[in-house]
Amino acid sequence: SADPVGHSVIPIVNKLQDIFSQLGSSSTIDLPQVIVVGSQSSGKSSVLEALVGRDFLPRGSDICTRRPLVLQLVHSPRKTDGTGEGDEWGEFLHIPGRRFYDFSAIRREIQAETDREAGGNKGVSDERIRLKIFSPNVLNITLVDLPGITKVPVGDQPSDIEARIRTMILSYIKHETSIILAVTPANSDLANSDALQMARIADPDGSRTIGVITKLDIMDRGTDARNFLLGNVIPLRLGYVGVVNRSQEDITLNRSIKDALAYEENFFCNRPVYHGLSDRCGVPQLAKKLNQILVRHIRAVLPGLKARISAQLVSVAKEHATYGEITESKSGQGALLLNILAKYCDAFSSLVEGKNEEMSTT
Ligand code: GDP
Ligand code: MG
Repeated sequence: SADPVGHSVIPIVNKLQDIFSQLGSSSTIDLPQVIVVGSQSSGKSSVLEALVGRDFLPRGSDICTRRPLVLQLVHSPRKTDGTGEGDEWGEFLHIPGRRFYDFSAIRREIQAETDREAGGNKGVSDERIRLKIFSPNVLNITLVDLPGITKVPVGDQPSDIEARIRTMILSYIKHETSIILAVTPANSDLANSDALQMARIADPDGSRTIGVITKLDIMDRGTDARNFLLGNVIPLRLGYVGVVNRSQEDITLNRSIKDALAYEENFFCNRPVYHGLSDRCGVPQLAKKLNQILVRHIRAVLPGLKARISAQLVSVAKEHATYGEITESKSGQGALLLNILAKYCDAFSSLVEGKNEEMSTT
């Protein structure tokens, strides 16, 4: 079964974040943003949806994503009634306080809000839509869905639409902390990929770009993406993952993500040309690759966090000493907190020393 993005690092990050909030601390782990780039209809929204494991983004053969969608996943506790109902919902920044429990209503609202700002006639706007998804199954991470690169203006699009979209994309992927998913459809000329070209501008040494090849199922007969996935055509430091997402027909027929993942798995099993490349085939492998990058990121920022925690440990100890003489309960709380912190400092150390490697491999 699929392991949604961030899933395997959720426990450790959440424990850390719990500690920070108990401390009333502003310290936290800022996870990188994941940004999808590519040409129009290359499958960017489909890839994001598959990673999140829920259906809620407008997708289609026409231009669908016409405003940046900043999708903030927020880990929230599981409800205790055990039904699992009402555990997951979405909230838009432009409709404060309203919870969307129905994910197809989220999609309709994205479409309506796109029309409000960018008009109903294929217009594009760089005004972002902000959506938070609350769920017990996600890690606190931000994913950004962007309009695709398009060359010929249609509808209300201005004559310089291509340049505008490129500028918009660059403004997101230029940040050193963002991870770029460069999406290229396998039924196009892979060597001329807009996505890889844009990614190279922002990330010349390829240290934060993952190549994603979509539509492996509709390549020209007799061709395959093996050489590309191996990095023999355009080498990429973090490598490539090939995926099969839902086709337009699947969308029309409302095929579920679960069915799509089963179909994808079957697809790779039945194609000998992709045997031996299982570490770079399929959405679950893409999620795994992202998780590994997140773990590496957490490891890199941990020493700094540890230093901050230690400083806070000292001030909590001082507070403990002061209050300990005043009230029993305060003293008890302080001792408990110190105890928990000591444990987590140990957890930090083993994480930094790499003893928790299994986290990245689920
Ligand atoms: P975007 O414009 O890059 O966000 O692309 P979408 O995710 O909206 O997908 C564009 C179209 O391509 C939709 O009709 C999808 O159903 C279809 N599509 C996306 N990925 C695949 C794939 O792997 N295989 C097939 N057959 N169709 C796909
Ligand atoms: Mg899209």
